[in-house]
Order: sequence, then structure tokens, then C-alpha cells
Amino acid sequence: MTVQEYAYAKLNLTLDVTAKRDDGYHDMLMVMQTVSLTDQIVITQTEGKEIRASCNYRYIPTDERNLAVRAAGAYLAAIGEEKSGFTIRMDKSIPVGAGMAGGSADAAAVLRGMNRLYGRRMDRRELEKLAEQVGSDVAFCVAGGTSLARGRGEVLEDLTPMPDCQIVICKPNFSISTPELFRKLDQTGLRTHPDTAGMLKALEERDLKGIALRMFNVFEEVSDRRMRSEAEIKHTLLDFGAMGAVMTGTGSAVFGVFNDAGAAEDCAEKLQRERLFCRIVRPTEKTEI
Ligand code: ATP
Repeated sequence: MTVQEYAYAKLNLTLDVTAKRDDGYHDMLMVMQTVSLTDQIVITQTEGKEIRASCNYRYIPTDERNLAVRAAGAYLAAIGEEKSGFTIRMDKSIPVGAGMAGGSADAAAVLRGMNRLYGRRMDRRELEKLAEQVGSDVAFCVAGGTSLARGRGEVLEDLTPMPDCQIVICKPNFSISTPELFRKLDQTGLRTHPDTAGMLKALEERDLKGIALRMFNVFEEVSDRRMRSEAEIKHTLLDFGAMGAVMTGTGSAVFGVFNDAGAAEDCAEKLQRERLFCRIVRPTEKTEI
């Protein structure tokens, strides 16, 4: 038996760090959105007793370090079918180390796929609970859509879906290490925070301009020479008519929100001419479990 699932990339409309906890983790407050940039996941049941993975990006580990493999193991353990064999084929389009939760999206897609293969033994909440064990962004990626995430990202609340628009995503030719950025944030501290309440209100009112104006990520405040490239991309997005532009997660991808398809295309062409990874995507709504 074979199932196919799409793993949707996530963007942060807002990202705030509200506290450093005693356990060393940070408390986050984030408005998250899935978009139409996807990895394709194909899961096939085999005769063997192992989970084998393969991926079109050669440098991605295909053993237990891969979040998709861990998700499959966690699902099988949860339903008491540890001795079943599977192959997981990942055809990735989501860039790695971009702040778009590519690995978490793959893991969540595997949880949805395995759940379909086993006759939907778990509901959405149960899958999200299991997803937490695999990684903090995996729980959001289970259903995706538009959500408010707290804690380490695993405490979720559904929000009014983001209005349709064009989103131009651009990733510079470097990645940013998440632990390194948290360290820098702890050193410098934070002076500015996103207006999360204002963002929730703008979403409720389906006010795209209000949403775009409130997009903000505290990691952009961290002093790092690479933020200069981030700022340059943001300027290009805004020059071409983006209503707002911001870095997603811990970077390095940056995105701009457009309400004019032609302007989004012109902007993407310009960024692609500079040999940068660039895609035009749209917000996606929640996936049925
Ligand atoms: P986030 O927004 O969650 O910080 P990211 O975009 O920065 O995500 P990912 O693309 O998820 O980062 O990958 C980060 C690391 O996770 C990579 O170094 C990679 O080796 C590892 N990884 C594990 N599983 C996967 C997977 N299925 N796809 C991509 N990377 C994976």
C-alpha cells in the first residue's frame, strides 16, 4: 500500500521571544502560516521490518536524524506496530535552513500519511500530541493553515485564515544556525516586539494591509552581518510593491506580501536574475486529518 502527502512550508507572520525558561528553552509567541511550497512524500508499506528513507537532496540524512523517519517510528510505536516496514521517499522543494520548517513539514506529512494507511486511528489532536515528541514545529505542521503558536511552538490556537495573496519568498545563498541566533539574542536582549494582538485583529478582519504592516520578527534585531543581505532583499520586495516584508523563523528566507500578481512576478524575476532562490506562493488553509 502506498500513500502520498504534501508537506507545506511554513512562514512566520510574527515571531516573538517572550522569555528564557529555566530549562534553557525560550518561550515563543508566533503567528504561523503554511504556504503552497511543498515537498512530496510517498510512503510505501514493505515486507521488511525497517523504515528506509530516500531524498532528492543528497546531503539530507536519511537515517534516524531525519525528522520524517523519526515521525514514522513514533507513529508505529504509538499504535503498537513497531515491527512494520516502510519506505519513505522525499522529493524536497522547500529549501533547507531557511526558517520554513521543511524537516518538520515532512515529519507532519509522514504522520498524516501513516494515519491514513492505518485507517485514521488518531484524530487531529492526538496526532499533534504525538508530533510534539518529534519536534516543536511539527505539531503546527500537522494541520497547518493559520495558527497562533506559544510555548516552544507546540501550544496551538486556530486563527482566521489569511486572505489570499501572492507571497514572494527569497532565500539568500547562506543558511543561519538557529542555536547561534538564540545565543546572540540572549546576549543583546530585545527592545522591540511584534504587535501580536494587532496581527490577530487584522486576521479576524481579513485586512491584508493590516496583516502586512504588522509582520515582524525579533530575530531581525539581532546584530549579525548577514542581516544586511536580509535587509537588502526586504528593500527589493518593498520597492517592487510588497505591502510588507519580513524574515521567517531564524532565517535565512525573507518574504513579501503582494496584492498584485504582476508586481509579484516582476519582483521574483529580479531576484532570480540575482541567482537567489525565489518562489511565488499563496497561503494555504488547514489540511483535513
Ligand atoms: P525551522 O524553520 O524549523 O528552523 P529550517 O528551515 O531552518 O527549519 P530544516 O529545513 O527543517 O530547517 O532543516 C534543518 C536541519 O534539519 C538540516 O540540517 C537537516 O539536516 C535536518 N533535517 C532532518 N530531517 C529533515 C528533512 N526531512 N528535511 C530537511 N532537513 C531535515
